Amino acid sequence: MAEPKENVLMEKIVSLCKRRGFIYQSSEIYGGINGFWDYGPLGAELKRNVKDLWWRAMVHTREDVVGLGATIIMAAQNGKASGKFDTFADLMRECPLTKKRVRADQVETQGGTVFRYTGARSPTTGWAVEKAFAVLEPKGERHDPARKKARQFYALGLLDKALGSADTLELLGETISKVTSSTDFHPESGVEMTEPRPFNLMFKTYVGPVADEENVAYLRPETAQAIFAQFKNVLETSRQKVPFGIAQTGKAFRNEVTPRNYTFLSREFEQMELEFFIKPDEAVEAICGRVASVAEVSAANIQHPASNIQHPMPRPEWGWEAWHTYWVEERIRFYESIGLPRATLEEYWQKPDELAHYARATVDILFKFPFGTQELEGIAARSDFDLSQHERFSGKQMGVFDEDLRIAWGKLEEAQRQKLWQRYYDARHRYLTKLGVAAEQAAKEAKEDADGLAKGQYIPHVIEPSAGVDRLILALIANAYTEDQAPDEKGKMETRVVMKFHPRVAPIKVAVFPLLRNKPDLVKKAREVRDLLLPHMTVFYDDAGAIGRRYRRQDEAGTPFGLTIDFETLGEAGPELKDTVTLRDRDTMQQTRVKIGELVTLLLSKVR
Ligand code: ATP
Repeated sequence: MAEPKENVLMEKIVSLCKRRGFIYQSSEIYGGINGFWDYGPLGAELKRNVKDLWWRAMVHTREDVVGLGATIIMAAQNGKASGKFDTFADLMRECPLTKKRVRADQVETQGGTVFRYTGARSPTTGWAVEKAFAVLEPKGERHDPARKKARQFYALGLLDKALGSADTLELLGETISKVTSSTDFHPESGVEMTEPRPFNLMFKTYVGPVADEENVAYLRPETAQAIFAQFKNVLETSRQKVPFGIAQTGKAFRNEVTPRNYTFLSREFEQMELEFFIKPDEAVEAICGRVASVAEVSAANIQHPASNIQHPMPRPEWGWEAWHTYWVEERIRFYESIGLPRATLEEYWQKPDELAHYARATVDILFKFPFGTQELEGIAARSDFDLSQHERFSGKQMGVFDEDLRIAWGKLEEAQRQKLWQRYYDARHRYLTKLGVAAEQAAKEAKEDADGLAKGQYIPHVIEPSAGVDRLILALIANAYTEDQAPDEKGKMETRVVMKFHPRVAPIKVAVFPLLRNKPDLVKKAREVRDLLLPHMTVFYDDAGAIGRRYRRQDEAGTPFGLTIDFETLGEAGPELKDTVTLRDRDTMQQTRVKIGELVTLLLSKVR
């Protein structure tokens, strides 16, 4: 059966993460705090590597993306403009008895017998309380009288405050019915839940000494909004021209109703987000005479200068669809480059009715986690919604002036101008109408926008690849976890746990072992090797215990390479092996002899 096996795997992962210092529960000594996690020494390195690799792929190796480091607390208007006050209000339902909450869209359907009551009465005092409630006896449990009684008794807790001790109460007005697929009953207590209500997922705080409504601020629920708010500053100071992107990594906070699946759904987490600004399709068509098809994206492959993989070379005639397809593919390649094979990932194209009203397409990249295939990253084509919203709310211009467009427009034939003008007008009109702008005003503003396009002005559209660091760490850990059989010191086979991280993300790149700790010459040489490597990569020096044990410890930490300094290194087996060490590969366990002088180059070629 798949289920228990998967749970066993998750249990093993959670226990290894704690035992080896990848992830700990936050505030564990005080009983923990739900939805918050700390990264131990190995986890912190893993996380740092992942963020650095993302930054390298998205910013350093590209000419068309620049970085941003914005604050976590922003002016409250940012939330209103972005619509996040609405987006981050999930519908939630509560058990009236236990007060436990669940997200309305996440309750699994249940079938069984429903026992409904109108209230309860105390036979000793004669007092009665009228308060309707219902309890579900799930299917298969209805013949168990003890279980049924327990549930009803439990539900009496709803009334016993008013009437006294629950065990003396008598339930009133019982009716019994059946349900086959209901989502109205709390999965734990079985009590009928309250109606769905919006629950704000944003963490609230106050700026300044006075805790009043004027000073309310929120911790950002995503890193993206600051990118939009700083768009104009970045554009003006970075000498970039559309199309270009702004990248940011950092903490985000969401007061999730039911944090779950270890770090998968946390209340404090990190994101890595890119907002890639592009021209509207009408501008592309005016300049290039056409908008490229999606099929042209993969046909544009060239060798990327900073990697040995083929990447498509962006083209001026790309519109939003081509750019969106390009970014989906780039992000999958990124995952492959850090050790998540394509076969562990899935693309989920959101259906039209799942899309946000402003989104033209959204692809979720899913990973096959042990608890199910779930979202790792979302890549959304968000039209010009975000910058338009900030323009409306701040009163500051968010549009750009595009000289190429102005010149191209002047050369267009009248019929072509009319067609593009009309298309742009319609798109802006749709946006304004969706916002509830009155018909006359919407027509006036949309006309101004379309006239602006003819003069070379527009609000850039955006493609947003948005990834979660913590989910990626969990995916990397789940993917790396492997058990195999290997001989111990006495040649007896034992189970070996190996974290098969790609060397690029591995927390420790190389371990250095003197064969024996009580031989000063070996120790001296081993320390020299460690010092040689330290400026270039993370190194772990270990001289404690039998060499096989030391290898095992590093296998569990996911260290891809081990170096042993032995008597041959000292030249005791002849001059040809002097100053060579044994290099052990974590995955194959194969050992080769390498010259100390060649180590830095060799290892750097594998871990970069
Ligand atoms: P989900 O519905 O899976 O919670 P979402 O669609 O709300 O995610 P986005 O708002 O698109 O997610 O956020 C982008 C990315 O940030 C997600 O793909 C995920 O990797 C990460 N992320 C979002 N919420 C959380 C969370 N509570 N804990 C950990 N990571 C998160």
